[in-house]
Amino acid sequence: MSAVGAAVEDGSLGGRVWFYSNYHCNLACTYCLTDSAPTSRRRLLDSGDLVRLAGEAAGLGFTSLGITGGEPFLVPDMPRTVARLAEFLPVVVLTNGTLVTDRLLRQLAPLAALPVAVQVSLDSADASVNDSARDRRNFALVVEAIPRLRAAGVRVRVATTSEGLSVEERSSLCALHRSLGVADADHVVRPVVRRGRAAVRGVGVDARASDLPPELTITADGAFWSPFGPTVRAEQLDTDLLITRTTRPLSIPAEAMLRVIDGRPPGEDSSLGIR
Ligand code: SF4
Repeated sequence: MSAVGAAVEDGSLGGRVWFYSNYHCNLACTYCLTDSAPTSRRRLLDSGDLVRLAGEAAGLGFTSLGITGGEPFLVPDMPRTVARLAEFLPVVVLTNGTLVTDRLLRQLAPLAALPVAVQVSLDSADASVNDSARDRRNFALVVEAIPRLRAAGVRVRVATTSEGLSVEERSSLCALHRSLGVADADHVVRPVVRRGRAAVRGVGVDARASDLPPELTITADGAFWSPFGPTVRAEQLDTDLLITRTTRPLSIPAEAMLRVIDGRPPGEDSSLGIR
């Protein structure tokens, strides 16, 4: 077994490799970790590089891939890139769910036959609460998009980012995602992390490396400890969780991760459980 495979198996390294495909977004959420907005510096990862890195990830012993941003579906041809990545490993793509046009649905339809999930952000069953942090009409667009994605055969997950849900709020939200056809197992809830725009606004929980599961994360600017690492504050990339600036071949940042985790106890070792 490879060194990465062994570390993934004993739980000292996450099995998923994350790719930040881009940093720009059609939205500008109040808590955005990457300070994303339509005018943000794009920091694009080339689609050919993504495919090569995915193949290397599979060869090294990683078990799945994640694509995040920014909004990945602003990148031309992202559905086809996702399909090529899924030839190597299962993929989850994070999206705000507001760009689900008929054209995008046609492009996404081939993903139905592949190990791909599209993870859509939805923070509250109350439209006004959801939209106050994200964008006017965000709620309406998302609750329309989820059934359309599912009707196209695409597996949908729902991700909720919150500073705290009451029992009632969580219950309403879960009733909503179930009514949209998303099972409890495909609903993830995570706290606002005090990085990026959340840090500027002074909201969210602090997260150090020891609070974050080690998951190799590749960006145009380097490799990071976690997908919560390559955040941006006022256009400046945070580098406190940078592992190495070298990302190709993937064996270089993977070996750097293994050196950093060496000595950590096997198994889950994070206090926040952020996923
Ligand atoms: S949180 Fe997501 S959807 Fe909102 S601005 Fe940031 S990248 Fe865009």
